[in-house]
Amino acid sequence: MTSDHTLPAKPELSIVVPAFNEAAGISAFLEQLADVLRGCCRAYEIWVIDDGSRDATWAQLRSAQAQIANLHGVRFTRNFGKEAAILAGLRQANGNAVIVMDADGQHPPALLPQMLALWRSGQAQIVAAQKVDRNTDGLLARLNAYCFNGLMRVLTGLDLSGASDFRLLDRRVVDALLAFPERVRFFRGMTVWTGFVTKQLGFEVAPRIAGSSQWSTAQLTRLAITAITSFSAKPLGMIFRLGLLGMLAALLLLVQALYSWVTGVAVSGWTSLTVVVLLFGSATLLSLGVLGAYLAQIFDEIKRRPEFLIQESLGDQAEK
Ligand code: UDP
Ligand code: MG
Repeated sequence: MTSDHTLPAKPELSIVVPAFNEAAGISAFLEQLADVLRGCCRAYEIWVIDDGSRDATWAQLRSAQAQIANLHGVRFTRNFGKEAAILAGLRQANGNAVIVMDADGQHPPALLPQMLALWRSGQAQIVAAQKVDRNTDGLLARLNAYCFNGLMRVLTGLDLSGASDFRLLDRRVVDALLAFPERVRFFRGMTVWTGFVTKQLGFEVAPRIAGSSQWSTAQLTRLAITAITSFSAKPLGMIFRLGLLGMLAALLLLVQALYSWVTGVAVSGWTSLTVVVLLFGSATLLSLGVLGAYLAQIFDEIKRRPEFLIQESLGDQAEK
């Protein structure tokens, strides 16, 4: 007899669920998810990463474990952010395919059979669920997304419109992502960047099961800055071009001033001077801000701190 039977078989599928303060809805979500999984997959595991919730999310998870087979959990010491939670989940996942999805029910489990079928047929190494409508988002959220996606397209060439973190990744993609040495991560962009064969599936964003979105505008802005600085150095080149443009404008102004001096016409001084000083002053500060964003990113990378710290785990094989 070989000793193979002592090794746990690799599940076909791992589900990775980042969760922050989701106590109100997570049990219902996990039940829905397990129902769908039982119908479409023989061997699966679920990893919920509790991103330092301050409510009863972890307690809910503990009690759900009695009902749901192969449910595992990891709890961070504090809130490290969704990106860190996704990374922790990818490190834990053992499946030949991994699906990342939100804990609030906005990423419908009903889409899983289709995602799996596309991957099983060998047509795709990444199955990206695309939002077909943003009706559940407010006007401001939609405007934010529009501006962010436009900026990303111009600056990085990556088209992220409609893209969500709800995606299936083949083991090869997961291993590639885990091999990235960088600390500052933008999951959605990184998977697009890998260039593995991708198929898209549309889905309507469901309303949250309970609670409200946990993202603050400050967090979203930080995510947008991270995303841009990790994918493109174009803003640095733009500073240079802005400087050239400013110099050209200054030269024109100089010519105009000299002309007025020669012809004896008095230059109306104060207003034009104020405008020029303010314009150049703010352009300089803006440029410093852009440089600062890159510097901050280099600082974060170079410290090489861990992306998260684990407080405790539920189930086997945790603590990676
Ligand atoms: N989330 C997280 N850490 C955070 C914020 C959010 O793990 O700091 C999780 C959250 O529990 C949910 C997913 O990320 O499962 C998406 O968050 P949310 O629903 O607040 O965002 P939205 O749906 O507006 O994108
Ligand atoms: Mg949500």
